[in-house]
Amino acid sequence: MILPIVFYPDPLLRKKGAEIGQVTEEHRSLAGDMFETMYEYNGLGLAAQQVGKVLQLAVIDVRGSDRPSQLFVGVREMPVESMMPLVLINPLISKPKREEKGGEGCLSFPGLFGDVVRAGEIAVEATDLEGKRNRFTCTGLLARAIQHEVDHLNGVLFIDRMKEEDLALAKSQLREMEQQFKQRS
Ligand code: ZN
Repeated sequence: MILPIVFYPDPLLRKKGAEIGQVTEEHRSLAGDMFETMYEYNGLGLAAQQVGKVLQLAVIDVRGSDRPSQLFVGVREMPVESMMPLVLINPLISKPKREEKGGEGCLSFPGLFGDVVRAGEIAVEATDLEGKRNRFTCTGLLARAIQHEVDHLNGVLFIDRMKEEDLALAKSQLREMEQQFKQRS
């Protein structure tokens, strides 16, 4: 089922997701709908807040992009595709390395793109839909997508991390979104 997307500046996007205790059929069904919604709108990632659920759950699939990523499980490099599509429940990021600037968009900000500086490499631990806790390290686009989604789960948006000058370029688009939101609500 394709779910309605929550758009900026809906206050739902500023809510920190509740931690998920036991992974249930309801979470599996939500994750399935989130993938369907994300693919429908050609996104690489989607957080539960973006479909109105204030939970620590996000979905990612970077296979649609040709921007490079690397994945390491333990010391072993694995094909990124082997982990796609990826569900992150209660994710934690650690050991950020290097800073890299890269372009980002967000399904809650249609038409808005901007550069964001993020760690080029991160360690991740997250629970999957079977309730298993997984640990891995990643770089490139996958690392960027995970940082973007984990931010969402904590109520942080990519505009919060844009440089002042990039944000200035986005100002009129943001104002338009704010007006549209006011008209809808
Ligand atoms: Zn986003």
